[in-house]
Amino acid sequence: MENKKPPMRYWNNMSYDILLKIFMTLNMVDFTTVSLVCSSWRKACQDSVFWDGKVFDLSDMSLCSAANLSFASNNDSSGDEPSNSTRLTQFLKCALDLSCGKISCFIFNFLQSINDDDLILVAERTANLKRLVLPRSNIQLSKTGVHKAMQLWKGLESLTLTDISIAYDIVEAIGEHCNNFSELKVTCDLGVNFANALIKHLPKLKILSLQSILVSKNALVLVANNLKDLKILNVSHSFIVGLTDDGTNMTIYSQHDVPKILGNNNNNMSGILTLIRCEGNCGMCLKVLQWNICTEEWKNTKEEVWRDDKIANLRF
Ligand SMILES: [Zn+2]
Repeated sequence: MENKKPPMRYWNNMSYDILLKIFMTLNMVDFTTVSLVCSSWRKACQDSVFWDGKVFDLSDMSLCSAANLSFASNNDSSGDEPSNSTRLTQFLKCALDLSCGKISCFIFNFLQSINDDDLILVAERTANLKRLVLPRSNIQLSKTGVHKAMQLWKGLESLTLTDISIAYDIVEAIGEHCNNFSELKVTCDLGVNFANALIKHLPKLKILSLQSILVSKNALVLVANNLKDLKILNVSHSFIVGLTDDGTNMTIYSQHDVPKILGNNNNNMSGILTLIRCEGNCGMCLKVLQWNICTEEWKNTKEEVWRDDKIANLRF
């Protein structure tokens, strides 16, 4: 009796739709790895179904750890073990190249230390980005790097800004290059100088979240008075620091004093500005107050402030 072998079947002959279904079950690191197997798999990984309007979220530590384990640098000819940041960069490059510029939101890891090259690498591969969430510290970014990235992100509409050290340059670059920019979440404290920078460079801002931070009373009055298109101002869990009305003492106001502060000082309160506040004295309010007394603890736990927001578009 003849022993018939089953016909040989090749991976690259697998139905395209089945490939897509299998790839949908993979995490981003495995997904990026399979795209390196062959040209037909790479083509499948570039399908719009994976990328249209995608949020690329590096805030998930398990994703960063997996990327560090899986990706070695192709450029490293020294024979040295590539560093974690080199591996993460390599992963980002491979993954974002697959997206063909279709990602709408990019979230860096909170603890990630980014430099100009990192920011520009992402910007070059996410030309249609609408929302950007920056990590805790942006101290390695330069004014030139920030401008170069914002030139590529002309459609950027929304940003979470975390570090005052580069905040002025970022706001200036957005004002210059991103005409549709309309919403900003600030997780560093807001003083008068930064309020003036917002007024100068982002005069068309519609939504401003100052949740869970310290805000200077004068800065608050400045933004409410001068950002004429501002529709929503979120001051939940925040504390306002400034002089008492008689100008004699510094005091801390709660978010519930904000209507009174703006009412006394605001010459354009036409009723169109919606104020968002919490109920007051909630767990988060107490944390913010404690954090600002214990500075180190505040710095270490700010990720919660970074992620959370009463405005749905700004939390993740
Ligand atoms: Zn609260």
